[in-house]
Amino acid sequence: MLSRRPTLIVLTSLLLTLAIAALSGWVVLQMRHDALAAAHAGGHNIARLVEHDLRHNLDIYAQTLDVVARVYNEPSVRGLPLHIRKTLLLGQAAPAKGMGTLLLTNASGEVIYDLDGSLPTRLDVGLRDFFIVQRDSNSETPYLSHPFLLAGSDAGADIAMSRRLHTTDGEFSGVVAVILRLRALRDLFSGLNIGAGGTVSLHMLDGTLLMRWPDDGSTAAPQDDSVSEVARFLQARRGDFFERAADGVERWHSFRRIGSYPLIFSVTLPSRDIYAQWQLRAWTIGLLATALDLSILGLAYLLARQFRRSGEVESELREEAGTDPLTGLNNRRSFDRRAAREWARAERAGHPLALLMLDIDKFKAYNDHYGHPAGDEALKIVAHTLGEFARRPGDCAARYGGEEFVMLLADSDREHARNLAEHIRVALQAKAVPHAQGPFGVLTLSIGVASTDCVAAESLEALLEAADTALYRAKEGGRNQVVACPASQLAGAH
Ligand code: GH3
Ligand code: MG
Ligand code: MG
Repeated sequence: MLSRRPTLIVLTSLLLTLAIAALSGWVVLQMRHDALAAAHAGGHNIARLVEHDLRHNLDIYAQTLDVVARVYNEPSVRGLPLHIRKTLLLGQAAPAKGMGTLLLTNASGEVIYDLDGSLPTRLDVGLRDFFIVQRDSNSETPYLSHPFLLAGSDAGADIAMSRRLHTTDGEFSGVVAVILRLRALRDLFSGLNIGAGGTVSLHMLDGTLLMRWPDDGSTAAPQDDSVSEVARFLQARRGDFFERAADGVERWHSFRRIGSYPLIFSVTLPSRDIYAQWQLRAWTIGLLATALDLSILGLAYLLARQFRRSGEVESELREEAGTDPLTGLNNRRSFDRRAAREWARAERAGHPLALLMLDIDKFKAYNDHYGHPAGDEALKIVAHTLGEFARRPGDCAARYGGEEFVMLLADSDREHARNLAEHIRVALQAKAVPHAQGPFGVLTLSIGVASTDCVAAESLEALLEAADTALYRAKEGGRNQVVACPASQLAGAH
């Protein structure tokens, strides 16, 4: 058992380290997923808010334009004095958020009315797209223009939303347009909390950039790059994707169309910003898990080495103590020591000394049939049986080697030894350990007996040899029997 423990320790610690590695890997992946989900939620919320705000304002402008377009040329309204008409139609279009001004033109593009009086006098917008588009179409829908700079205006770029005006008989009579200050968008965007590396942008469907925040050139991608993003923005009304720009930086884009207007709002975050926190934590977890794994492996190694050593020490101690590890009987070395002592004592006292040599019958076949571990168990049973009969202080049962046993009986003559041997043989047979391949169907012993009262043994070796010869005869005689040294030698022994 002890010998298997080191392997067990190493296996268990390996499993443990694998489990820790797998668990921390899973946690790290989960956290990465969470980081993206958080960015997702943030981007989504900002986009929703902005879309709602812009759409709401644009809808108000569109409604205002609609009212003006429908009633401006009504004869009853036209009959009113100009200042009353203005107040009636335009006065209620109280400047909504981000609205520059509201203007009316005649059919050739000259501005004939400017709500807040902020535009240069004698302004002609006849060449502006928001005028041309309405002049050349018969559409009732508002048109959102490309950005432009109005001459003399210092408020930065504007865009316009225009509606066609027509006389009661359908003839084009000019446009009404809301001028929208892009600067107002900047105020809206700059108030958004998008994180250090993030940008928000508003594009037109053809890729024209209306506003980007922050727009200091360091965080925003170059304008040309944005065209490829916008191409992807067009594929759905809203969505998100990762893209590596020409500057080599991978960014995450979340985009959303603004109602039915030709505008796309987008939030852009560099991937490294999304994963910055996660990366730090992933490193921490990874290093901790590695340290833990290494400690476990190190401890397991030390423990296994300790066990291996104590296993070696234990078997050395056993060896020194003279015990056979499998059966617990004396080992051969111990037997030799004891036998030499008993031999000397018997010689001094002039007492007889007897020796049993025991060998399991057809044990090779037993092993082959039942397997080696079962063979070991059988050896233990035989050893136990021997132990039951080695009761006196001078008796010494030992495993002599393999499946051979010896038993030394102090102060014992041939008859006593033979009797005891017979008892042992019967006792084992009575235990009825199945031995399908043996001649008797159960585990049996052949026993050779030699004693100093029937063998003229000069030495212990000679006595052992005599017992071995007797054992050989027992085998030859058909096994499962006791053969003692010839009685004929009894007289001449002493
Ligand atoms: P016989 O009746 O003639 O004695 O036949 P046998 O098969 O017992 O004879 P042999 O001495 O050739 O076989 C001894 C077998 O004992 C061989 C070996 O497989 C087995 N053996 C020896 N030591 C051990 C041990 O420690 N454990 C086990 N399971 N088997 C052992
Ligand atoms: Mg043998
Ligand atoms: Mg044998």
